[in-house]
Amino acid sequence: KVRESKKEGFEFYNPKQWDMGRKSAGIASRLPAAIESGEIQVWYQPQVNYKTGMITGAEALCRWKSKKDGNISPGEFIPVLEDAGLIYDLDCHVWDTVCKDLKRWNDQGRQLCVSVNLSRLDIVKNPDVADHFNTLKEFYNLLPGQLRIEITESAYVENSDTIIKTTTKLREAGFEVEMDDFGSGYSSLNMLKEVILDRIKLDLRFITGSGDQKMGRTILSYMVQMIHAIGTSIIAEGVETLEQADFLGSLGCEEMQGYYFYKPMPVDEFEELTAYPTKK
Ligand code: C2E
Ligand code: MG
Ligand code: MG
Ligand code: MG
Repeated sequence: KVRESKKEGFEFYNPKQWDMGRKSAGIASRLPAAIESGEIQVWYQPQVNYKTGMITGAEALCRWKSKKDGNISPGEFIPVLEDAGLIYDLDCHVWDTVCKDLKRWNDQGRQLCVSVNLSRLDIVKNPDVADHFNTLKEFYNLLPGQLRIEITESAYVENSDTIIKTTTKLREAGFEVEMDDFGSGYSSLNMLKEVILDRIKLDLRFITGSGDQKMGRTILSYMVQMIHAIGTSIIAEGVETLEQADFLGSLGCEEMQGYYFYKPMPVDEFEELTAYPTKK
């Protein structure tokens, strides 16, 4: 019935859809004020060296603690900001916050590395994004290797020329670039011969999620071998159990990130954790 009416150009009023649209519009229009008032926070999820158990760095993940709507997850607001053309504003705020934190830690004699996320649109709409990172690095007096730049696999597939150019520029400036969510999309194997990356981030959830577990492990073990064979290092993400960590460790996977080790945490907690290093 609904389909029929659509064909004729009618559409039934769908309150749920209307609500969603209204919420999205609200999210986008409230971003500047949310940045200003500190509702947008940067949390850190520690990354661990499997062999030593020591923290090697962290991924910066944004959090929206809205006074009006409670916590809004990145999975919800990031696509909205991308559609509204506002993702670069959010990301610039996140990167600036991260660089400020890195500078403070450097001054305290703790040289940490942080991975930041880039949206495909940050690059496609701002071809000079590498210059932006250079400016940040100079301003906060950071070593370029302290910033690891995560670009999701699908970006490499959808806008390959632009993304590859930016990757090369960032690497030439000394930043580390890693492909996020490797294995979640398609055609990424072919992409690996087009671009040099510092690291590949394997998301265990994509690999072990459904299907035959034994087959999943076999695929994983060959993926790790293949990535190492082309001279790229690996960080596994979404590691939730000791069993997973030990299996990845036995394959030679050097770094790991996931709820088994640490969940994302507010900056003060991360600061405390790294001030008194402990093994996991
Ligand atoms: P991502 O970059 O792949 O980040 C990893 C996500 O997995 C994070 O979700 C993290 O909290 C979650 N995670 C980490 N370990 C585990 C685990 O063991 N189990 C499970 N189930 N989840 C785990 P989060 O923070 O909700 O972020 C979701 C996505 O939103 C990110 O995926 C990233 O694509 C995007 N995102 C987050 N912050 C930013 C940002 O500042 N800028 C941009 N452009 N995107 C961001
Ligand atoms: Mg990421
Ligand atoms: Mg990921
Ligand atoms: Mg992701």
